[in-house]
Amino acid sequence: MVDILYILYPIVVIGFVIIFLLLPRYGPHYTSRLTCPNCKKIFNFHWIPGATFTSLLYRNNRKLKCPYCHVKSTFNVTSTRIRKTKKIPKIKSKT
Ligand SMILES: [Zn+2]
Repeated sequence: MVDILYILYPIVVIGFVIIFLLLPRYGPHYTSRLTCPNCKKIFNFHWIPGATFTSLLYRNNRKLKCPYCHVKSTFNVTSTRIRKTKKIPKIKSKT
């Protein structure tokens, strides 16, 4: 029985490291290129899919404040998703 614990312990430790350390940093997170409907300026939005209850509720839509004109608008973040980030002002998801 002791042998099983010796095998299980490192698996549990590795599992915790992946969930709490690796996933928030290197896990599934996306960048979307959004265009503000108010001022028509383009900015990048960094987000983690399904991170919170509100993101599950709104699904693909996020209410965001434009970094240029500070007007709140609803954006579809999945349809505007991009892979590489270019030097465009970025705002981080607080949800
Ligand atoms: Zn704007």
